[in-house]
Amino acid sequence: MIELPTYSGETAIFGLGRSGLAAVAALQAAGNRVVAWDDAEAPRAKAAEMGAQIRDLTKDFGAVERLIVSPGVPLTHPAPHQVIDAARAANAEIIGDMDLFADALVHSGLRGRVKLVGITGTNGKSTTTALVTHMLESAGERVYQGGNIGTPVLDLPLEENAVYVLELSSYQLDLNRHLAVDIGVWLNLTPDHLDRHDDMAGYAAAKAHLFADGKAQAARIIGIENDFARALANRLAQEGEVTTIASQDADIIYLANAFEVDGDSVSLVGCEALVGAHNAQNAAAAYAVGRVLGLSDATIRAAFLSFTGMPHRLQMIGQHGAVKFVNDSKATNAEATRHALAAFDNIYWIAGGRSKPDADGKMGLDMLMPYFGNIRAAYLIGEAAKPFADVLAARLPTTISGTLDKAVAAAAMQAKTDHLDASIVLLSPACASFDQYDDFEARGDAFAGAVAEWINADEGAGMNVEEAR
Ligand code: ADP
Repeated sequence: MIELPTYSGETAIFGLGRSGLAAVAALQAAGNRVVAWDDAEAPRAKAAEMGAQIRDLTKDFGAVERLIVSPGVPLTHPAPHQVIDAARAANAEIIGDMDLFADALVHSGLRGRVKLVGITGTNGKSTTTALVTHMLESAGERVYQGGNIGTPVLDLPLEENAVYVLELSSYQLDLNRHLAVDIGVWLNLTPDHLDRHDDMAGYAAAKAHLFADGKAQAARIIGIENDFARALANRLAQEGEVTTIASQDADIIYLANAFEVDGDSVSLVGCEALVGAHNAQNAAAAYAVGRVLGLSDATIRAAFLSFTGMPHRLQMIGQHGAVKFVNDSKATNAEATRHALAAFDNIYWIAGGRSKPDADGKMGLDMLMPYFGNIRAAYLIGEAAKPFADVLAARLPTTISGTLDKAVAAAAMQAKTDHLDASIVLLSPACASFDQYDDFEARGDAFAGAVAEWINADEGAGMNVEEAR
């Protein structure tokens, strides 16, 4: 287990998910006075078993000196959580598990002997984090991946000469005070999570913590296709070197399936998990990280070819005749779905869920309209089905399916009936999953299950009675 310092006074943890419980365990092991709370009974019981004092911090904050909150707890918008108000009134420090991780590195004397890569952006964080990790592993480096992806950071081992590749959400960065990465990557910024950050300026300011106060000294890699990102890059360029990425006028220029750097073109043709311009952007960022960490061009290119991608992101999960089934459940906003709709033709599109308003309070469908020519028909699910249908029905054959299994059955049957040379049944919801599923993974798994079931049933229906027995 990671070795934390023993802090003065009481340390409180609010929010006992996997990261919160990992924090309780690590703090307890270092002999800290730990108070913990979660609205749910079960994780409270686990924290109590670990030896934490259980106290409802919203009612009795007490003399807590620092509060570790899970990134899900609103700091400012739509309104500060009660526990945040209590912490502010008590003058307690408010931080996240990333800060404890940073403290542990300093405490163990390892901070100068490891490398930290922090990756943020509205879309592409997980893909880029996984790609950088894969690239470093292929090069024989000792590498650990954590943060918003996979393992909570406090469950990672601390090792000399290791590289830690951390996926950082805007919520985590908003909390971040102690963590200073060596290499910072800001991929892109488009409207998302505005309920939590109020507006784009607030969202950008949260992400800018990655580079604040001279952080990310070894490299600042920034996608500059947004005014806030460009302004930030210009400002940081006055203090030190910045590597910019964009589809034009940048240090690294990404195209449909390649990127250009220093006058050379790095092709992504044949890299199956890096299809589309958005993945060229991710690859360009990973390349920049690889070069700072001393990897050769040949090693990086080989890693691009062997990268297998991530589940739930444009993942081909099945084929039945000429119909392919693609799971892009991770596309929880219109920007992500835009890339999916651009990548294919003859799409039977399954969308919907809990929609997120964009900066103008709309649902983001406007930005998808240029790609409607690639769509044969739309099948809508969840809370957004009706409002999406109001926009789509005049432009596309549109069905309100309600649930995913009904949408899969209708889309697959239509694709089969249309007999095209090639077509795609695509789940790319442009919405969060929480109205019908625990998370996007559960939604993607449900899609895969419904697809397998439909294919089985259809194969069964094609058999004669003898074979079916
Ligand atoms: P994140 O971790 O930031 O949510 P992922 O790598 O999981 O990002 O990708 C989420 C979705 O966004 C995927 O459906 C993918 O198609 C799309 N996407 C991936 N990279 C980018 C990018 N650079 N720009 C825009 N969309 C992207």
